[in-house]
Amino acid sequence: MQVKGQISIKGIVQGVGFRPFVYKTARELGMNGTVRNLGSEVLVLAEGDNFSEFVRRLSRGTPLSHIDTITVTDSDETVPNGFKILESATGTLSGFIPADVATCDECIQDIFTPGGRYEGYWATSCVNCGPRYSIICSLPYDRERTRMDAFPMCGPCRDEYGNPASRRHHAQTIACDACGPALSLLRTDGTPVEGDSLHIAAELLDEGAVVAIRGLGGFHIACTTEAVGRLKGTLGRQEQPLAVMATAEKIAEVAIVSAAEWK
Ligand SMILES: [Zn+2]
Ligand SMILES: [Zn+2]
Repeated sequence: MQVKGQISIKGIVQGVGFRPFVYKTARELGMNGTVRNLGSEVLVLAEGDNFSEFVRRLSRGTPLSHIDTITVTDSDETVPNGFKILESATGTLSGFIPADVATCDECIQDIFTPGGRYEGYWATSCVNCGPRYSIICSLPYDRERTRMDAFPMCGPCRDEYGNPASRRHHAQTIACDACGPALSLLRTDGTPVEGDSLHIAAELLDEGAVVAIRGLGGFHIACTTEAVGRLKGTLGRQEQPLAVMATAEKIAEVAIVSAAEWK
């Protein structure tokens, strides 16, 4: 029975919550060892009675990961007591850059939990969701190599980042209202509008205004269907098709959608 070895996992394994997943699994199975991010590869050194079960569970991956190969080799490296997440290797690294992922259901729940730390905070994210591609400056994917570097974590965020029981354990995009990016609403002349940017912008849209929304990866120009003629006139693109956002109910009214497309 193998009790020790080096496990190499290749594929989309960074920015997808893989290291915290390895850590959590190791703790659950009483494994000693280390995990390290090498770009398109996560390298795990592990020792413990549950070694084969550990490898089996790792091969399941996380919701956003995609494992191409998982290989186990013998190792005579010294294994530390307990389990540690090591600094990522830097230098000439290749690897897949993970995509931005829409806010997950659990984070949406956090945003709507009254009195919670993330109540109403638009940039709430976790290891399973949030921006990746749009904020990565270089690999490997760690906070100091992303645009989030400009937002030092507050105490409670740091605690959550370091807590293996948390969904935000080693979540590089962790941020809250106290420490993270903030929204602002500007008039066309650049002067700021006081108040809750998100709700005022929504009201402006309802009133027929055209609002340019600067997101993580660029601008969306938004308006309601009533104002779209004016927008096309302003852009000088009368024939241009535009992406339409609507509720599921509205979409069912105006479009024929296959089961696969609904999914
Ligand atoms: Zn999430
Ligand atoms: Zn914070």
